[in-house]
Amino acid sequence: MTETKRVRSIARRVNHSFLLRALFLLLLANAMAAGLAFTLHLLTFEKATLGPQWTVKMERELSAGDPANWISTLNSTIYTIVDGTGTEHTLALGAYFRDLGAAVGTGIAVQIPFIILAYVGFRRHTGNLLRPLRTMAATAQELSTIQFDERKYHQLEDAIDSLSVQSPGARISMGNTELMGLETAVNNLIGRMHESYRQQTRFVSDASHELRTPIAVIRGYADLLARWGKDDAQVMAESVEAIQQEADNMQRLVEQLLFLARGDSGRNTFSPAPLDLAALVQEAYEEYLLIDKTHRYRLKADGPLPISGDEAMLKQALRILTDNAAKYSPKDSIITLSCQENGKGEACLSVQDNGAGIPGEDLPHIFERFYRADPARARGQGGGTGLGLAIAKWIVDRHNGYFDVFSREGVGTRITVCLPAKEFKDTPAPAAES
Ligand code: ATP
Ligand code: MG
Repeated sequence: MTETKRVRSIARRVNHSFLLRALFLLLLANAMAAGLAFTLHLLTFEKATLGPQWTVKMERELSAGDPANWISTLNSTIYTIVDGTGTEHTLALGAYFRDLGAAVGTGIAVQIPFIILAYVGFRRHTGNLLRPLRTMAATAQELSTIQFDERKYHQLEDAIDSLSVQSPGARISMGNTELMGLETAVNNLIGRMHESYRQQTRFVSDASHELRTPIAVIRGYADLLARWGKDDAQVMAESVEAIQQEADNMQRLVEQLLFLARGDSGRNTFSPAPLDLAALVQEAYEEYLLIDKTHRYRLKADGPLPISGDEAMLKQALRILTDNAAKYSPKDSIITLSCQENGKGEACLSVQDNGAGIPGEDLPHIFERFYRADPARARGQGGGTGLGLAIAKWIVDRHNGYFDVFSREGVGTRITVCLPAKEFKDTPAPAAES
């Protein structure tokens, strides 16, 4: 017998036993009531017939007609009593039995619907009680019917074995409906692994490409030095300066690569602490006033703006944005650093310039590693590697924040970073506006 049938048969048995018990109790109660009524009827007769002599010892007899026919027996039943003086008194019970039978029949007819209602309620109750058992039984049955076909699993193993993460379109398709879910999961995993592999190889090739240029320049100047530099002071000075500059570029690039590689492997130390974002923006503003005399800096800060963050990292992100603003905007143009709370209660900082702007088609890519909207222009303007915004994004993501970029070609760019706000007890002094 199947598991579900077994549970159904248990339910049926429980319901039947309830019904039988209810019917038995109904009959018993009616029989007791009829017996009581009958006894009372006889006692009433005795008392009415004998009056004050009722307590006197008497003889009683219940006589019936033909015992083979129970209807005639009931009809002809006579109750006889003999009083103290020896006089017989009789009571014909035929009519009484008919009335009693009719009364009991009506009583049972009235009670039956209640029994049916109680039975229906009980069935529903048992159904609810046994539902978890039914579910378990159905699951057990399903499991017991699953056929384990070892061959199919071996085929799947072979198909997985033959997959290579290097072949982009590698997918398993065995056309087996039972293993479809597993196939899809493996295919999705392969897709993700392939994407990550592609990003890794692209990152490595972009990184090598970026390192090749300074190495070639250094090599070129070293050759020049070897051939002429010893005698020509000007060639010597020019070569040393170029080598120093390229070495700086290389060092910067290697540091950026290290930061991203550590970020990818979760090895960047991130130490969040309560800090005031407005104060941080003000510090950066003061630094840029000192180090960059070629632009006019402005500060707009409605401090304090309490947040929880890694101060060094946030400063680094702010420098990346400000460096870009300086790099991609003309001399003497205005660069505004600002800090304010937005309508959603988040703490936001933004850097705005009146520079070249970013073309619309480049906007979706500016946070990608090594992406440069205009490589020629960037190289000419300080030799950007296209890693700055990727690093800033990593930092902002780590703080559960987001970017909002607004840029128009020939007009300027405003990049805003919004971070979740956090109250802290010792409120620092408000940052000044300038
Ligand atoms: P790096 O910062 O690594 O030295 P980069 O500045 O070229 O190099 P990102 O900071 O990642 O790289 O910026 C990516 C690209 O986005 C830049 O090459 C530039 O084309 C564009 N960009 C970023 N900020 C601005 C800006 N304020 N104005 C105009 N273009 C910008
Ligand atoms: Mg940059």
